[in-house]
Amino acid sequence: MDYAATTPVDPRVVEAMLPYFTEKFGNSASLHSVGQEAEAVLESCRRKVAKLLGARPSEIFFTSGGTESDNMALKGIALANKNRGKHIITSQIEHHAVLHPAEWLEKQGFRVTYLPVDKYGMVDPASVERTISEDTILVSIMHANNEIGTIEPIEEIGKICRKGGVYFHTDAVQSVGKIPVSLKHIDILSSSGHKIYGPKGVGIIFIKEGTKIEPIIHGGGHEHGMHSGTENIAGIVGYTKALELCIKEMKPETKKLLKFRKRLIEEIDKIPDCWLNGHPEKRLPGNVHFCFRFIEGESLILLLDQKGIEASTGSACSSKSLKPSHVLTAIGLKPEEAHGSLRLTMGRFTTQEDVERVIKVLPGIVERLRKISPLGK
Ligand code: PLP
Repeated sequence: MDYAATTPVDPRVVEAMLPYFTEKFGNSASLHSVGQEAEAVLESCRRKVAKLLGARPSEIFFTSGGTESDNMALKGIALANKNRGKHIITSQIEHHAVLHPAEWLEKQGFRVTYLPVDKYGMVDPASVERTISEDTILVSIMHANNEIGTIEPIEEIGKICRKGGVYFHTDAVQSVGKIPVSLKHIDILSSSGHKIYGPKGVGIIFIKEGTKIEPIIHGGGHEHGMHSGTENIAGIVGYTKALELCIKEMKPETKKLLKFRKRLIEEIDKIPDCWLNGHPEKRLPGNVHFCFRFIEGESLILLLDQKGIEASTGSACSSKSLKPSHVLTAIGLKPEEAHGSLRLTMGRFTTQEDVERVIKVLPGIVERLRKISPLGK
């Protein structure tokens, strides 16, 4: 129940990767045949990923994952376009892999607007349009939110950006491979392997041809100078196979997840004093996100874990202060409401049995915690 955090590597992906750890271990920069074999497989992966996403091979660059791709997008665009403008637009509910680079850029003299969202976590495209000024160089709005699963209107936002002559980046780490993604109105996109049944530490950045962007990692000039460092061929083969399987199996997988999501939402909704967060329909098929009054998310997670159910909560508990999730406060929850959050995220290997198990144990755990809660009730 924590597939949004990470996914197991699909056995078919492991099988595809294995030869690249042993007999096919070459460095793609070497001139000999073992190196050239690595180079050939690297370029074949690039072509496959490009075809799967609807891009040109020259627009796909392999990276170490979502965080790095997001950093490359924000810092790379800022560095290359600072003479044109110093304003960046993003939203209040982005992943920290976008928010923290944005905050860092503020320290370097850039101005960043963090757009608010509505109660479902939706960015209003009209607010993007209103905020774009002469000085704006980049808009970065995620495709699907990692906590509450809301799917953002990126097509409309992309069109607005293109009309305004502003680059549009989307963090699609939670959406690529799970829902259809069109690159038509996107200039830069981030994706990560470990969210799509591929290995950790590998991802891609799509950069539309003609985009003015600076690399942030310099060295041997790999990935056409955009990302120096010996390529992680096994990881790249894994990412490619994982993406291929996700796209091939998206329809039946989505159907299964929508059925599970509906069942979970209907049943959890029967528990008193709780509510669903995120958009009721425009949300990731495998995402269920509730808040329960009068309890703390951490206790909920620990008790669920004792029952063999791994889930997640949005609040981060430190010894002195309880810091609620920035996503939940952005959708208008009070800190005390945000504390009792539970994220259940399902995926390829989730079974009906798993779903029924949550439905069976969750009400009792919530009741037990409320009895001992100092938070009221
Ligand atoms: N962006 C989003 C929306 C995510 O959910 C994550 C992972 O949690 C990341 C970025 C970071 O990706 P990675 O773990 O590959 O660095």
